[in-house]
Amino acid sequence: MLGWEAVAPQTPADAATTYLRPCGYAPISDTWQGHRNRGSAEPGTDYAVPRGTPVWAATSGVIVDRKDTPSTATGRYLALRADDGNYLRYLHLDASTVRVGTRVERGALIAYSGASGFDSDTGYGAHVHVSLWIGGSPNQLGFKNTVDFENHVIDTNPSQPSTSEDPVPTHQSTTYAWNTVIPANSWIPVRVGANENYVAVIGPGRRETGEAVVNLRASGVTSALQIRLVAETLTSAGTVAQAIPQPTAEIPRTTSSDGITHAQYVMPYALAGPARMYVHVRSVGGSSRIEEVTIKKNYWPS
Ligand SMILES: [Zn+2]
Repeated sequence: MLGWEAVAPQTPADAATTYLRPCGYAPISDTWQGHRNRGSAEPGTDYAVPRGTPVWAATSGVIVDRKDTPSTATGRYLALRADDGNYLRYLHLDASTVRVGTRVERGALIAYSGASGFDSDTGYGAHVHVSLWIGGSPNQLGFKNTVDFENHVIDTNPSQPSTSEDPVPTHQSTTYAWNTVIPANSWIPVRVGANENYVAVIGPGRRETGEAVVNLRASGVTSALQIRLVAETLTSAGTVAQAIPQPTAEIPRTTSSDGITHAQYVMPYALAGPARMYVHVRSVGGSSRIEEVTIKKNYWPS
């Protein structure tokens, strides 16, 4: 993406009213004008949503900037250069799911909302801040010279249900207090509910495409936790035909005083039934206690 800012925008879409709100019909906790009135350095619209809410791309374009630390007033953010020449930033995120250089379509999952800023995951109340610049980047136009994003969304009345046909995935979130010590250096299936290991079970002839976000709250981690998804294809008799481990993430133990390690793993997946999928965890160097397991899925069944 180097050098793209030197290119003059083709057709600034000053009258665009087709953008999607980041999280659907969430309440607005602070308007663009409200930001202006209090002298905001980057006026935008704040949508009040719980941390971990999926954030959708307002329009199609390319991810051009991303910050993964909660530092400064922005916290973690993601920037989208729209195909129409406009530029958007999403601030205070928990996590972004797309890399710089990724092309995204309108309505694509790009991040999970948060409250990040000022070196903390909870530097603010939970919300998404959306900034919009018309026809150029903030470096070209000035960070303060935003416009009101709400004037550019497809439906300016947040209380109305959507009439668009956007392919919004099914969102599923479960939290389970596992409270189990796992031994050192062995792959252990993660319990995601009482007597439940599977995060997806797909019947014959069915498909499921999506993204799984695994959050483990652990204590007493010696060195690190490793996490991976394992997909199993099944025979018609229901026995395992093949187990296919997905790439492993390794999360080092926390250095914070409460001793709690928050381990997160994000992985897209596509399964064709009969198949199922579970989460594996491995405690590196010594045992660990997994206190709580949260699984979030955004998926399209078919
Ligand atoms: Zn804001």
